[in-house]
Amino acid sequence: MRGDGGSGRLDVDVVVVGAGFAGLYMLHRLRRAGLSARVLEAGGGVGGTWYWNRYPGARCDVQSLEYSYGFDDDLQQNWEWTERYATQPEILRYLEHVADRFDLRRDIQCDTRVVGAAFDEETATWAVRTEAGERFTARFVVAATGCLSAANLPDIPGRDTFRGPTYHTGRWPHEGVDFSGRRVAVIGTGSSAVQSIPIIAEQAAHLTVFQRTATYSVPAHNEPLARDRQAEIKARYAKVRAANRQSMAGFGALSGLGPPQHAMAEVDAGDRDLLLDQRWQEGGLGFVAVFTDTLAQPDANEVAAEFVRAKIRGIVRDPAVADLLTPTQVIGCKRLCVDSGYYETFNRPDVRLVDISSSGIEAITPGGIRANGEDHEVDVIVFATGFDAMTGALSRIRFEGVGGRTLADAWREGPKTYLGVAVAGFPNLFLITGPGSPSVLTNMVTSIEHHVEWITACLEHLRGGGHRRIEAEPEAVDGWVAYVNTVAGLTLFPTCNSWYLGANIPGKPRVFMPLPGFAPYDAMCADVAAHGYRGFAIGQPGAT
Ligand SMILES: Cc1cc2nc3c(=O)[nH]c(=O)nc-3n(C[C@H](O)[C@H](O)[C@H](O)COP(=O)(O)OP(=O)(O)OC[C@H]3O[C@@H](n4cnc5c(N)ncnc54)[C@H](O)[C@@H]3O)c2cc1C
Repeated sequence: MRGDGGSGRLDVDVVVVGAGFAGLYMLHRLRRAGLSARVLEAGGGVGGTWYWNRYPGARCDVQSLEYSYGFDDDLQQNWEWTERYATQPEILRYLEHVADRFDLRRDIQCDTRVVGAAFDEETATWAVRTEAGERFTARFVVAATGCLSAANLPDIPGRDTFRGPTYHTGRWPHEGVDFSGRRVAVIGTGSSAVQSIPIIAEQAAHLTVFQRTATYSVPAHNEPLARDRQAEIKARYAKVRAANRQSMAGFGALSGLGPPQHAMAEVDAGDRDLLLDQRWQEGGLGFVAVFTDTLAQPDANEVAAEFVRAKIRGIVRDPAVADLLTPTQVIGCKRLCVDSGYYETFNRPDVRLVDISSSGIEAITPGGIRANGEDHEVDVIVFATGFDAMTGALSRIRFEGVGGRTLADAWREGPKTYLGVAVAGFPNLFLITGPGSPSVLTNMVTSIEHHVEWITACLEHLRGGGHRRIEAEPEAVDGWVAYVNTVAGLTLFPTCNSWYLGANIPGKPRVFMPLPGFAPYDAMCADVAAHGYRGFAIGQPGAT
C-alpha cells in the first residue's frame, strides 16, 4: 500500500484526510464510484468532532433526527435516537456504527496525522506525508479535516506554570474528569462552555467562569425522544431531508413553527412577543428564524435580542450578574448557543462570573488565574476556548501546489476558494465544507452530504472524460470571494468579533469565511456542474 515515490504507480486514487462525518461518507461514496481510497485520521478512532469533544454536556444542537446522515434509508430507519439532542457518546456510537455497517474501517488508518502534501505537476498526483514519515501517493486529495477540529489554546502568560491539571474541551480525556471537591475555572463562554458549565457546577466545589463576551443562549428543551414521535418522523423522512436540502440552514423541517413568514416590521408590535415566545418555547437554533430579517436588519435583530436579554434578567437573580451575562452585540452574529440551564447556573452560590472584557486574563499562576488585579485560586482549569475555525486544520498541513506555492502563502490575506471546494493553484485538491461554503452556518451534516456527493460526481465526470487533472480558475476564485463578501455584507454576521471572522485567533486575517444561505448555494453548485464544471480548468496543463 505504501508509496512508491516516482515509479508512477499510485497507492490509491484518493487520499481522504479526516474520519469524521465528512471523511466517513466520502470513503463510502468513493468506493461506490469504484475509486480506491485511504482515509488518514489523526485521532485514535473515527468520529471526528465526536471523538475529540468528550466534555461533560457535549451534545448536538441541531436535533438528532436532522443531525444525521440521510444518504441511506435503511440506516436512518434502523438507528434509534434516544434524545431530541443526542449526547456525544451517542453520536460517537452512531458514527462507529456507520463505519462498521458500511465496512469502512479497512480503509481507515487512525493515529496518522498528515503534515504535508505536495502536488507533482508532471504526473498530476499528490504525495501525502504523515507525521510518522509515511508517504502516500494519490491522484486526488480530499480534505475532510473539519471546520472545528484545530483546538485553540490561548497563549496566556504563565499558562504552563499552573500546578493543577488543565483541559481543553475539544481534547477531553477519554476516561473523563472528576471535578468533585475541586475549585474549577472555565475560560470562555461559547457553545462548549454553555454546555459544560451547568454540569461542572453541579460536580465542583466551586466554579469560576471567565467571560470575555456575554453569550446569547436559547433553551434546548431537550427530552427523551418518544418512540411514536420518532416513528412519525421516520415515516416521512425523505420529505424531511428534502425540505432541509431546500432550506437556508440545512435544518428546520422538524420545527412545528416552520420557516419565518414575515419581516419584523410587518408584524404588529403586540404580536412580536407572541412569535418570539413561541420560538423560545420550541427552543434551539431556530429561534432566529422568528422574522425573515432577524439576521439582516438591525431593528429586527434588536427586537429578538432584547427578548433574550429580558429572559436573562428574568432568570438571573443578582442584577449585577444578570447585567454581565447580558449580551449587547447583534444576536446570531456569534454562533447562537443552545443550553440546558446555563443562565440558571449563575444563581448558585458556588458559581462566580468574572468579567474579562476589558483587560483579558492577566496571567495564569501556579495557584490559579489573575484577572482585573485579583488572584482566583483554582485546582483545575478548563479551556472552553474553541477552535481555529475553518482554516485551522488546513493551515496545519503544508500543502504545496503548483510551483511549490504553499496554501499558507496563497491564503495569507484570508482563505480564497471557488465554491468553498477548490483552490486555484492546488489542482486535484477538494475541501469538504471549506471556507466560502455555507458550512458552519448550517446543519453540517446536510452540507457535508452535499459536498461529498458533488465531489464524487465531479470525479466521475473527470473519469468519464479521461481527465486526470482539475483546478479552479483564478478568475472563478476571485469572483467567488467577491460573491461571498457581497452576500455576507447583506447580513449582520460581519458586525461583531466572531470566529466566523477569525477574530478569536491573534493575527488571523479578518475575513468572513462561511457563505450564508444553503439552498441558493446548492443550486449554484448544481449549475456549475451542469455547465461542465464552469470555472474549473479540466485536463491541462501537461496532464489530460
Ligand atoms: C462540541 C461540538 C458540537 C457541535 N455540534 C454541532 C451541531 O449540533 N450541528 C452541526 O451542524 N454542527 C455541529 N458541530 C460542528 C461539527 O464539527 C460538524 O457538525 C461535524 O462533526 C464535522 O464533521 P467533519 O467530518 O467535517 O469534521 P470533524 O468531525 O472535525 O473531523 C475532522 C477530522 O479530521 C482529522 N484531521 C484534521 N487534520 C488532520 C490531519 N492533518 N491529519 C489527519 N487527520 C486530521 C481530525 O482529527 C478530525 O477527526 C459541533 C462541533 C463541536 C466542536
